[in-house]
Amino acid sequence: MQKVAVIGGGASGLMAAIYAKTNRNEVVILERNNICAKKLLMTGNGRCNYWNQNQSLEKYHSKSKLILKQILTQDYQTEVLQFFEKIGIVPKIRDGYYYPYSNQATSIKEALLSEVKSRGIGIITNCMVEGIRKEKDQFQLTTSCGDMYFTQVIVATGSCACPKTGSDGNGYQIATSFGHSIVPVLPSLVPLKIDASFLKDWSGVRSDVELTLYDNHQLVKKERGEIQLTDYGISGICVFNFSGIVARGLQNRHIMQIAINFVPFLNAERVEDVLSFLLQRARYLGNRPIDQMLEGFLNYKLIYVILKQISIKKENTWNTLTKEQQRKIANCLFAFQVDIIDTKSFDHAQVCSGGMSLLEIDPLTMESVNVDGLYFTGELLDVDGDCGGYNLSFAWISGMLAGKGVLKYDPNSTN
Ligand SMILES: Cc1cc2nc3c(=O)[nH]c(=O)nc-3n(C[C@H](O)[C@H](O)[C@H](O)COP(=O)(O)OP(=O)(O)OC[C@H]3O[C@@H](n4cnc5c(N)ncnc54)[C@H](O)[C@@H]3O)c2cc1C
Repeated sequence: MQKVAVIGGGASGLMAAIYAKTNRNEVVILERNNICAKKLLMTGNGRCNYWNQNQSLEKYHSKSKLILKQILTQDYQTEVLQFFEKIGIVPKIRDGYYYPYSNQATSIKEALLSEVKSRGIGIITNCMVEGIRKEKDQFQLTTSCGDMYFTQVIVATGSCACPKTGSDGNGYQIATSFGHSIVPVLPSLVPLKIDASFLKDWSGVRSDVELTLYDNHQLVKKERGEIQLTDYGISGICVFNFSGIVARGLQNRHIMQIAINFVPFLNAERVEDVLSFLLQRARYLGNRPIDQMLEGFLNYKLIYVILKQISIKKENTWNTLTKEQQRKIANCLFAFQVDIIDTKSFDHAQVCSGGMSLLEIDPLTMESVNVDGLYFTGELLDVDGDCGGYNLSFAWISGMLAGKGVLKYDPNSTN
């Protein structure tokens, strides 16, 4: 009889176990925590953004995008969505982002665990897998609960993002122990640190902005949304979506800069458009102190940060400023440039960029090309997505493929 171990009871591990189980095999999930799916409960601020309608490859990052394309097919996407419907999840879809209608991540967790239970899949919690060896046709797992033997093993241990949830990067060692290579792992979907003297002054402000990311002075990406200004730098969804590129750029010693447009409502294409807007306001407000002219659209703390940066006193009026000073204000509003010096650590990251190379798995089954019967899923692999449900989307699809993959060793399987 086939005996399948799934190492890690997170998103991809639960999915893999469900798809691997038939009435002819034994499937056991080994989870180091005292419960499964600890990270899943934290996703989407406790609401679990489990999918996104727009599955464009652009939303994903990997060194091996051609392989990734073979994993994220339309058919597999449809199958995953049908699976969630079948296990009882009613989606609430907002701008293409999927959440359970209950608005609770626990609904997804419980639906998966009910499915696991009803299929007779075993779960051993508080069981840390410390090493794996393959001898002849068997895998020997050294665990905190003693040695165990299996015919196939699915490694679903996650990355090293948010290690307090159990994913501390030990899966990379398992992968390298079987000769696999790891694309350098960096924090992603993570706040960014800035080098500037004004951070304490803007800390606590939330602002709707447009951000433009520059890598060695080349424009690479634009994002719109709300950012949080903090005493170390910037945070927020659009900042997160830059963070993987920033982390890789900084690792290669590139100059990474972000221009913050604090007046995105103007849809300005050039600084002159912002200047015209200010000149128009100045018709009525031009003889009032400059902070009063700006306060109708800019947070008070930001007004002082901007004026301090360009050495203009708040008591000055627009009409007494030189043309150059007026232009400087417009420029700061349109493209306030900050130098990024680092990302926050893995503790603060939602995911990791990098991981085990996709070139070393069969994209149809997630099986290792080095070792028969060994599979890898989820964030452990060199795939990360933007905010918006992409990381869980990959966890579900890769888990499903690995689960189906083990069935090829079952001579009676129709899959
Ligand atoms: C705060 C936060 C919010 C997020 N929000 C979203 C969101 O809304 N949408 C989205 O798509 N993505 C989100 N993500 C990312 C998403 O949660 C992950 O991409 C996804 O959970 C990865 O699934 P996984 O199965 O690869 O790993 P994980 O879910 O991390 O599961 C790995 C499991 O393996 C266990 N484990 C590790 N090593 C061992 C071992 N040696 N032995 C036994 N067990 C082991 C761990 O304890 C863990 O339970 C979020 C992440 C965080 C941190």
